Amino acid sequence: SGGVVIVGAGQAGARTALELRALGYEGRITLIGDEPYPPYERPNLSKEMISDVQTKVSWVSGEKDYADAEINIFLATRVERIDRAKQSIFLNDGTTCDYEYLVLATGGRPRQLPFVSSRICTLRTVDDALRIRDLAAKARKVIVVGAGVIGLEVASTLCAMGIETTVVEQGPGILGRGFPSNLAAYLADLHQVAGIRILTSVGIGAVRDADAELSVELGTGETLTCDFAVVGIGITPNVSLAEKAGLSIDNGIIVDSQLRTSDIKIYAVGDNAIKRDENGRLCRVETWQNANLTATAAAASITGRPRRVPDVPWFWTDQLGHNIQLAGKFDEFTTSYERYGVNEGSKVFLYLKRDILVGAATVDAGREMSLCRRLIQACKRIEPELLEPARLDMAALQA
Ligand code: FAD
Repeated sequence: SGGVVIVGAGQAGARTALELRALGYEGRITLIGDEPYPPYERPNLSKEMISDVQTKVSWVSGEKDYADAEINIFLATRVERIDRAKQSIFLNDGTTCDYEYLVLATGGRPRQLPFVSSRICTLRTVDDALRIRDLAAKARKVIVVGAGVIGLEVASTLCAMGIETTVVEQGPGILGRGFPSNLAAYLADLHQVAGIRILTSVGIGAVRDADAELSVELGTGETLTCDFAVVGIGITPNVSLAEKAGLSIDNGIIVDSQLRTSDIKIYAVGDNAIKRDENGRLCRVETWQNANLTATAAAASITGRPRRVPDVPWFWTDQLGHNIQLAGKFDEFTTSYERYGVNEGSKVFLYLKRDILVGAATVDAGREMSLCRRLIQACKRIEPELLEPARLDMAALQA
């Protein structure tokens, strides 16, 4: 048979391939990606990759690992169409490839503003990061559109390079999606103190390429100029292959708890998959951890040993020299606490629902985060007195 064919050689695609072999899958494994590079990690693209020319691409795994696992990799190759009846896919080089199981790991692409200019960048790929690095090397002023995680990471990196940085956000605050508001407010302060100008509730009216500058007209009527702009306003999941094949779609490829789409021979993993949470709401997650966990769970299902995706959702971002980590959920808490961590200057934000820790966020407090992840996972009642000290008492919580 055609074995398992994986479309998309990013974080989730590569991990699915490696995990299948690790779980003892003996059939053919084919990994097909349209980028020219072997699978790489995206997180450092908005961080060191922009500011530090020494930074190397961070590979998901070494070339030898794919060879040892006998994974057939095709790069710079696009999958154009799926024929579900024949269990076969069509590639852009005119060839076809049969599958027993197909895994869609096609990720997403950055949303764009409706203005075209060589001075407007988005950031998803190594090539995008290298382009921003080139522009940044000669720039004095930059505008970042969107105060989400990617926008603020890029703003932090560029500001640290001495570039005058303005962030323009349409919504009423920064980090509107998925961040608790007290943490967002704390981070907004850090950005302002670092000298980043953040404009909220401001849209972009028009953008003009003027001589050596970009001229950006804001919804407020104010016009700003800059050397270049970076747009970080979210991604659109790559669902067109699945959609054309008639699979169920809703802002992502709909999957069940085993990552199976509406066709049981086809799985979807990573940023492009959308799944019901315990409350029945469709929920799509765009994190490194989710890419890895969904890959592992799909591989387990394909090899006939399905398991639930167990881990507490976890995510990190690096901004202004601080490491920020979030775990759990932030939409159901009844009480929140803001505490200091053990290290000087560190912070711990705790979110409880009736004495049970449901979410936590830390700033420069990795050890506290490990403990919080265990406490969230355990769903154990926490005595409110234990959380009273201004500096978190790790030993007491651990007991
Ligand atoms: P991707 O990694 O995007 O891989 C999908 C691949 O499929 C791409 O190579 C794409 O070109 C290819 N493809 C699409 N369609 C086709 C087709 N038809 N044929 C062939 N190939 C196709 N997460 C964190 O938790 N912490 C962070 O700090 C963090 N920082 C980030 C910084 C940046 C700049 C970016 C972009 C992301 C960051 N993330 C971070 C998110 C994390 O990187 C993503 O969640 C993860 O990469 C998703 O993996 P994926 O495999 O689903 O998608």
